[in-house]
Formats: sequence, structure tokens, C-alpha cells
Amino acid sequence: MGTDFIIRPWERELFLGCRRAWDFGAHERQGYEAAQPASFLDLERAVKDALAVYYFPGMWDWNRAIVAPLATEGFAKALRTQRTAYQASTAATLEDDEEAAGWEAASAAGRRMLAAYYDWAPKADKWTTVQVEALFDVTIPDPARPDHGLLAADGRGVLYRLRVDLVVVDKAGRNWIVEHRLCEDGFAELDDLLLDDIALTRSWAWEQGFLGKVAGTIHNELRFPRPDEPGPEAASPSAGAPSTGPDVEWIKVGGRHVRRYNGPWFRRTRIRRKREEIEGAGVRVAEQGRLMARTDLDCYPTPEWSTCRPCDFREPCLALMQGNDPQPALAEHYRPRVRKDFEEGRLGSVWGYVPHRPDQTHVRLNPPPPGP
Ligand code: SF4
Repeated sequence: MGTDFIIRPWERELFLGCRRAWDFGAHERQGYEAAQPASFLDLERAVKDALAVYYFPGMWDWNRAIVAPLATEGFAKALRTQRTAYQASTAATLEDDEEAAGWEAASAAGRRMLAAYYDWAPKADKWTTVQVEALFDVTIPDPARPDHGLLAADGRGVLYRLRVDLVVVDKAGRNWIVEHRLCEDGFAELDDLLLDDIALTRSWAWEQGFLGKVAGTIHNELRFPRPDEPGPEAASPSAGAPSTGPDVEWIKVGGRHVRRYNGPWFRRTRIRRKREEIEGAGVRVAEQGRLMARTDLDCYPTPEWSTCRPCDFREPCLALMQGNDPQPALAEHYRPRVRKDFEEGRLGSVWGYVPHRPDQTHVRLNPPPPGP
């Protein structure tokens, strides 16, 4: 058991979707994960690693022509790491499998997409980057006493641990939280972005952790072509096509204006956020954190195919549904969760507690001032 009760955004999502799945998978509950990873490839993770290099604050004033190959190498390194981890956990060699062809195709598609992004982005990058991949903890307030931190039943402090893709500051000195999204089925609806709860809770948490106000959220979407479309490389200046750059569009939504940079493959939507939106996200996290930290919570299932289809815990859940013991399935096909929040050697900044010591003790990077 850790010295703090940690809640991560993916655990909160599990909890909101199905309490039983959360009970199987959350670190503070049973903490299981599938012994065999569902996929050998996490393309969005690899693209985010590339963009972390591209927007790394220490290199922001470097010529983009120098940074772009480094970013693409970040993408390639992430894919290699995923492949090695998959092979280690499955004892399979991808070279012998048709998945190897899929891996090569995804690697090539990602490289082409990134090359086109490097052509498109500079005209939309009207900012200075401040942080990439910032991983930090914030205290969740007690909903009954918002100026006090929430405590679990065993007295441990309840913290929210999250990672922010990118923080930028605009020419007026305002902070923005940037979310990168890899779109496999086309760009998102505007309402999807307006209601993006993860972006709002990240904005709230960043304000708690860094004591600066967030002006809004920027949703940076990168889209893969449909099977019948030519790829982004066909429209890339590096392939000889004229450089068009993004079209800027203003969209009026209720009382606010949304600024959008359009493009066939990339789209960036900048949304000013009201105080009510950001502070409301904190209230939701606090109320949900209070429930998650309870020991007497009823972890009932919520069977609904859109939730159950991607669920990792269908097998033990079905055993429970039929009144059987889930332990044989858990023992055979699951293992204690091993993936750490903090990965050594990964680009980004870490603030707060770093639970990566072999003995699982916590290191506090920013110790608080001595108390009375
Ligand atoms: S299979 Fe469905 S009901 Fe069962 S744990 Fe998963 S999401 Fe919940």
C-alpha cells in the first residue's frame, strides 16, 4: 500500500464506466491487468512522444528543421520500446507473426503523418512552449470542506496523478493546456471538444499544481487517411506540393468564439474556458474521489456493450455474473499491474511524488515548507 491514495485519470474513467471493472483494475483496488497485452502497438502514445520532442521547451527556439528528425526518432524509439515490451510479455517474436507487417505499416504511416505535420504546424504554432508531458500530483479537496484535502478511510491523503501533453503561453502571456488527439475515424465533433472532461480536469489540476490561471484548452488533432484517400504525404511540400498552411476559422458558440486552424489532416481548435467549466471539473473530481476512497462502496457491474466490448475484465466478470468464483480466471489470465506511471528516460517533467524506486518508496521532488 502506498503512503497516499492515488487516483489516475484512467482509473476515474473506469470508475465512471463500470465500478466492477474499476475494482478489478485500479491500483488501490485489486490492481489486475491482462497478462497478455491486447495490442503490440500504441500509435497515439508514439505520436505523443514525437510531439513531446518537437515541442520540448529547451529546444523551442531551435530551427524546426533540426528538431523534426529528433521528433521522428522519438516516435521510432517509442514503437521499438512497445515492440520489445510486447515480445517480452508474450514470449512471441513479432518477426514470425503477421503482426510484424502491421507494425511496419503503422511505423511508415506514422512517419509520413509526422513529416506532413512538420510542414503544417509552424503557421499555427503561435505560442511559446512551457511544459511537455508534465506528470504531477495534486491534492483532491474534500467536497464537504473544500479548503481541506480529502482523506481516505485509512487516513491517507487522496491525490490525483495526471499527465499533461503540453502547456503553452500565448503572446498575451496566457496559459493554455494542449491536448494531442490521434483520430482514426475523422475529426471530433465540436461538442465533443467542448465537453472534453479530461481536458477540463487537466486544466483544473494544472491550476492547483502550478498556481497559474488557464485561459483555455487547445485540441490538436492528427487524422489518419481513410482507406480510399491519398495520405498526407501527397499534399506535403516536401513531396513537391505547394505549401498552403492552415486556414483560420472563427466559430461562434453561444457567448464565446472558438478559433480553429483547419487542414485536411490536422486541425487545431482553441477554446476559451470559463471559470465555471474549470472549477466545475475540480468539483466533479472531488466528489468522485470521495466515492472512490470509500471502503464500503458497492462495486456493481454496469453491463453495456459499448463499455464491455473494450473491457479487459470480461472473463472474471462473466464468472461473477453466473455466481462463480472469478479467482481461477484471474490467476490464469491476469497479473498484478506492473506498468509504472513514471518511466525512466522518458522526456517530460515530473513534479510531486515519484514512485519509481525499486523499493517503491516515494521521493518528493518539491518538498513543502516545514510545518509548525
Ligand atoms: S464486462 Fe462490462 S460489466 Fe463486466 S466489468 Fe467489464 S465493463 Fe463492467
